Amino acid sequence: MNCFQESRRIVIKIGSSTLTHKSGHINIRRMEQIVKILSDIHNSGKDLILVSSGAIAVGVGKLGLRERPSDTASKQAAAAVGQCELMYLYDKMFAEYNHSVSQVLMTRDIIEDEHRKQNAMNAFRRLIDFGTIPIVNENDTVAVDEIEFGDNDTLSAIVAKLTGADVLVLMSDIDGLYSGNPRTNPDVQLIPKVEKITPEIESIAEEAGSSRGTGGMITKIHAAQIAVEAGIDMAIINGEHPEQLYQLFDGETVGTHFTARRNDPEGE
Ligand code: GLU
Repeated sequence: MNCFQESRRIVIKIGSSTLTHKSGHINIRRMEQIVKILSDIHNSGKDLILVSSGAIAVGVGKLGLRERPSDTASKQAAAAVGQCELMYLYDKMFAEYNHSVSQVLMTRDIIEDEHRKQNAMNAFRRLIDFGTIPIVNENDTVAVDEIEFGDNDTLSAIVAKLTGADVLVLMSDIDGLYSGNPRTNPDVQLIPKVEKITPEIESIAEEAGSSRGTGGMITKIHAAQIAVEAGIDMAIINGEHPEQLYQLFDGETVGTHFTARRNDPEGE
């Protein structure tokens, strides 16, 4: 048994590039596959929390805009439209498998104030106790400047800490962390396990990026730093192949696994 098989509470982050076509519209087939597998994983007895991006991308598609806007007010408006559509779809798809979803929209100030943080933790706990699948996103309509997280990779690591998760899985548009940039260099290798986040790992990650979300590989490494220091194992898998979720939770080696730091008396 490995940590993913044994895990009781999991946070899964789904990026915009996993959920949408290049056109910006929602990838219905992909979303249905993911919801079906997640429903099954939930049925197997694991608590499940989703961090889903896609509000702005879906809003852009729904409003018929030609591209992702660059001004803040338009992004806020696109998120308001897209978040509704996104939750409508999740609600409908999870209901097919008899699961209830709940929406949690976060801003940075919630975790910076101890009292608000406790309130958020209580709400998560109760939503999980009630058997719902919380679906979290940044509150992009109001979270600008100092109250924004900026990317959902970081947000998902914070949510994993807040909810006491055992593992965090980031579904990306790439198989995991490579020894270089696979988009420009065909000779690079997938790194299956990272036991320590070194400056070398960070510089490899700086090179890789993604087009439809706000994060790239570097924000995933930052998320890994938060997670592993909190004793949470993290994996990056390819969202284009949702069946990798089954492989991961069946204990197979898939994607890149960042191993959690556990009880290290040397502080190393
Ligand atoms: N919160 C943004 C959205 O839902 C995405 C942020 C990200 O991709 O990291 O559109």
